[in-house]
Amino acid sequence: MWKFFQENQLLTLITISNLVGFIFYWGFGGLLAILYYKGRPPEILKSQSDKTVGSKMVMRDLLLGSINLFILSTITALFGYFIVLKGYSGIYFNLLDHGIAFSIFTFIVYLLWIDVSLYFAHRIFHIPFLFKKIHYVHHQNTTPIAVTSLAMHPLEALTFHAVTFLPMLFIPMHYIAAIIALVYTNVVSLIDHSGIKFNSWFFQSPSQFHDDHHKYFHVNYGQTFWFWDWAFGTWRRKGKAYGVQNFENKDDFKEFIPKNPQYIEYSEESFFVKHRFAAIVFFCLPASFVYTFFVNQWRKLKRCLNRENQHTKSVEIVKADCMKLQENSSAKLCTNRKNWQSLSTRLFDKKAYSQVRIGHLTNIIHVNREALIVRTEPMVTVGQAVDYLASLGYALAVSLEIREATLGGLSMGVGMTTHSHKVGLFQESVQAYEIILPTGEFLRVTETEHSDLFRALPWSHGTLGLLVCIELKIIPIKPYVRLQYTSVFSKAEYCQKIRELAVKADSPDFLEATIFSKERAVIIEGWFDDGKGKILTPKHINRFYQPWFFKHVETFLNNSSAAKGAACELVLFKDYIFRHNRSIFWTLQDMIPMGNHPLARFCIGWMYPPNISFIKLTMPLQIRELTLTKQVFQDIVLPLTALDKAIDLSDELFSIYPLLVYPCRIYDHGKNSGQLRPPREIDRIPGTNFGMYCDLGIYGIPQPVKDNKAYDSIKSMRTMEDFIRQEGGYPFLYADTFMTREEFFQIFDMALYEGVRKQYNLNQAFPDLYEKTRPEIDVLALREREDERRHNEARDQ
Ligand SMILES: Cc1cc2nc3c(=O)[nH]c(=O)nc-3n(C[C@H](O)[C@H](O)[C@H](O)COP(=O)(O)OP(=O)(O)OC[C@H]3O[C@@H](n4cnc5c(N)ncnc54)[C@H](O)[C@@H]3O)c2cc1C
Repeated sequence: MWKFFQENQLLTLITISNLVGFIFYWGFGGLLAILYYKGRPPEILKSQSDKTVGSKMVMRDLLLGSINLFILSTITALFGYFIVLKGYSGIYFNLLDHGIAFSIFTFIVYLLWIDVSLYFAHRIFHIPFLFKKIHYVHHQNTTPIAVTSLAMHPLEALTFHAVTFLPMLFIPMHYIAAIIALVYTNVVSLIDHSGIKFNSWFFQSPSQFHDDHHKYFHVNYGQTFWFWDWAFGTWRRKGKAYGVQNFENKDDFKEFIPKNPQYIEYSEESFFVKHRFAAIVFFCLPASFVYTFFVNQWRKLKRCLNRENQHTKSVEIVKADCMKLQENSSAKLCTNRKNWQSLSTRLFDKKAYSQVRIGHLTNIIHVNREALIVRTEPMVTVGQAVDYLASLGYALAVSLEIREATLGGLSMGVGMTTHSHKVGLFQESVQAYEIILPTGEFLRVTETEHSDLFRALPWSHGTLGLLVCIELKIIPIKPYVRLQYTSVFSKAEYCQKIRELAVKADSPDFLEATIFSKERAVIIEGWFDDGKGKILTPKHINRFYQPWFFKHVETFLNNSSAAKGAACELVLFKDYIFRHNRSIFWTLQDMIPMGNHPLARFCIGWMYPPNISFIKLTMPLQIRELTLTKQVFQDIVLPLTALDKAIDLSDELFSIYPLLVYPCRIYDHGKNSGQLRPPREIDRIPGTNFGMYCDLGIYGIPQPVKDNKAYDSIKSMRTMEDFIRQEGGYPFLYADTFMTREEFFQIFDMALYEGVRKQYNLNQAFPDLYEKTRPEIDVLALREREDERRHNEARDQ
């Protein structure tokens, strides 16, 4: 017999291939089926517990699966014999031919290849014609068991087999790698159909994922990994009707890109929640790096091609959109900037609004060096503006540290920086706004023309008009900034010192404090410097291998010279401006906990930071809810006299460190000051028309959450908001607020704003400020759910 097999190699191969296939299919598939029928444990999927498949269907699946298996195993053997063994494929048998690293690499490529091609092949089988004629055979069983995995039309089985084997022809691959990839894919397929609950592992989808495919049909096409559905918008969504009956509706197939990405999570903690850092490191970082590179090149090119009348044409687009949208729909207006592109923590639901195109407004139009004004379109980013202006020897008077922030966003929202103790908020640097009203009317708004609008536009968040151009104050700069770090070890002392430095006549050009614990802070003073003294060698604080800036600052706490106020450094102006950009202040450390480790900086540091846009894009609903219940993201404008109390309260409520403090002037613009009231008498600096305030930035995970203790984030945030109201402060509206409409109106002075909305007929055209800036999630309902969860947890313990 042995001799027979030796002489008939092909037959031997066919026999072995079939034997292995059947042992695997009947053995492992049968075992899963037995476990499924035995019930708990193992846990049966919810969709299966109310209905079990009849024995006729099981027999059909087993028979059909076995026929397919025989065909596929035989073809596999033929492929192995005529293609692989004869050397017509990329398969190699000696590991040393290409080395271990290459073999691992091609294994990963092959695995991804199989999965993406199965995903698309599967999608094609869902085209109505093919579904009805072919794929329906597999879908007849809506509560599949393991053996259903191969119960399909033979044509479909052959197609899947072909896309799986095709890459072997040209991808050089070690035979063991090919076998592992094939076995793994098939094991997952059996598990996916088993009806038994298997959780997500690494990128592999949980069994509920494919089970939902059998229940809802044209969702979750992915075989092994879930990310294809996530990336291509076919992940099952909440509140959407699915079923075979929809097939005749062609619209159903238009939804290639997700419009309503409220995804169902397939395990209690989805991969993104559990391994957020992996999504950031493996997706957001590389995607941001490539995206930023191309966008920058594109913008540079656009600037070179900037034609005389280009801006006029761009404005015409906005005008035309406004008029057309207002004519054809009663929906209110908003910009078409995607939610994920904005730095705001919210995911404002734009679907209910008519969206006006503004994405093309990305040009810096003109720099007037005599008047020290830059004229620019609103979608220009801070990074773009600083790079361009610095090359001419200028900077924005108020310039944020985050390169991605847009000048339009900062002028319609709010902006503040370490120069604000000298010049005030971003709005103080705006010389003119050019806006389009819903009627298409163009308005140039300055301190003297439409002065009411001039005061109401800051903090209006796009609810008073569409910004098409801004003119901003610029300041001449020197190439360097000399920094002085002073460590202080008492809260009373550092609060006092910041107050003194902020108001004194020769105050530093830049001033901030980083508070590392209630009693320990480093105060950073900065002065423009031409570097000619050559006493200090410039330090390149932003190079990828350097520690994150706040970590660098922390080292001064242990530095005795800093305690004496003598630790100085010279840094390039642009390095100074974007010192917090790499680590997005300190928020990146929660996303990539080891991100500041020297090894991490060397391996991935050159890609920092991930774009906030990509971070938001990969934020499932679950994480968004966690940002409300388990995280704090707040910038609060407070009178500097209240800083002491604010730190106490923040310590009590959140215990988050570091904290950021930027002193800032708030000017008194008289009775029509806009949404910010004139400073109270007690906060006013004698002999001036401004009060000295500060931005307190609280970003991170509260200590009780880190310690796994019960924590009511919404109550804490509302307590902080009460405090802000009492002290005459304001929360930045890019972050989540937890106030009722009445409370919101107590904080902000809405008199001028409402008068302007009435005067220019804007009430029906734009959402109001509260509607526009409240979280898209019902915070109170979320709190109830959280309470219930806590209650259940306590009961279970
Ligand atoms: C970690 C972190 C720290 C931060 N720290 C600071 C800080 O220290 N100081 C500071 O000032 N800010 C800070 N910010 C916030 C940042 O300044 C704001 O998000 C800012 O509003 C710019 O964001 P954006 O360009 O994405 O604007 P968007 O969010 O896109 O826009 C802001 C608002 O303006 C409206 N808008 C934008 N463009 C137009 C237009 N052309 N016409 C009409 N309406 C428009 C939008 O609808 C939106 O309501 C921080 C943000 C983060 C995430």
